[in-house]
Amino acid sequence: MPETIVDRLRETDRPTFSVEFFPPSDDAGVQQLIATIEALQPLEPDWVSVTYGATGASRYKTFAAVGAIRGQTAVSLIGHLTIAGQSAAEVVRAIQAYQRLGVTHILALRGDPPAGGSFRAHREGLRTATDLIRLVKSLGDFTVGVAAFPDGHPESDLELDARILLAKEQAGAEFAISQLFFDAGSYAALVERFRALGGTMPIIAGIMPITVPGQIERFAGLSGSRMPAAFEAQLREVADDKAAFRARGIDLVTQLCRDVLAAGAPGLQFFTLNRSTATAEILGRLRAEAAVAAS
Ligand SMILES: Cc1cc2nc3c(=O)[nH]c(=O)nc-3n(C[C@H](O)[C@H](O)[C@H](O)COP(=O)(O)OP(=O)(O)OC[C@H]3O[C@@H](n4cnc5c(N)ncnc54)[C@H](O)[C@@H]3O)c2cc1C
Repeated sequence: MPETIVDRLRETDRPTFSVEFFPPSDDAGVQQLIATIEALQPLEPDWVSVTYGATGASRYKTFAAVGAIRGQTAVSLIGHLTIAGQSAAEVVRAIQAYQRLGVTHILALRGDPPAGGSFRAHREGLRTATDLIRLVKSLGDFTVGVAAFPDGHPESDLELDARILLAKEQAGAEFAISQLFFDAGSYAALVERFRALGGTMPIIAGIMPITVPGQIERFAGLSGSRMPAAFEAQLREVADDKAAFRARGIDLVTQLCRDVLAAGAPGLQFFTLNRSTATAEILGRLRAEAAVAAS
């Protein structure tokens, strides 16, 4: 039986390191993505994951990218899958497409409407990610992961989120990957709420490297909830100096990683927007520190 991602998460000698990519729009982009994955090889990523789009065209790109990664690299892979905008029959075909590509790990998600607004289940579709877990598990020997939300899902509250995460585990999910967050305390509190309900699956911390000032607006901006004030203030201090901003962002996110690992996170999944340099820098620092601590 090949090793699954869950087996790797159980090995406690080092946290897992993984990277999320979105599917490029053309062949040149796919080859660039393969080059990015190869450039990350010295850091030995435990797996990469590929997101799944909200429209038919972007879903096709997911399978093209996954096919190329499976064909041209040896890295383990999680394929994301959503139910938004699709009938149950279309979702079954997507699961079969993953099966044909030899994908054994699926991140089962609901997805959001492509143009924003509230989610409405397809007339002949599934209603929640929990339904999707059951469908995926009924169709093959898949290891299924799910999303978790340290700052709460926008349509929910923290307690309901924890109960839904437990329902996902009971439906067959074996690991979770968190949404990005900037306060290690939010991640630790999510894990605590989940464990208090009896949940046992590992929750990997989702990490977004910050390198450009526009990201402050995107994450802290109008909704104002995601980025703690002190974190944001430290970034704003250097917002006019590109190099200083990048250095500060990397320092702050490296510290966030140290804090979540100290809080017991079994792994870090980086949301790279398909760029790997900042991720490699952060991970390089963490690994160097771990090596010094172990010597
Ligand atoms: C790591 C990660 C990767 C992601 N990758 C993608 C991707 O590739 N493509 C993409 O389109 N999106 C992706 N997303 C975004 C995700 O699809 C959205 O956040 C979506 O709004 C929620 O998905 P979910 O799987 O948590 O859905 P659900 O678990 O179905 O939850 C959605 C909402 O419904 C509520 N709910 C669910 N079940 C019940 C119930 N039984 N009773 C009452 N309320 C309920 C929940 O509280 C929540 O508010 C990703 C998110 C994360 C964290």
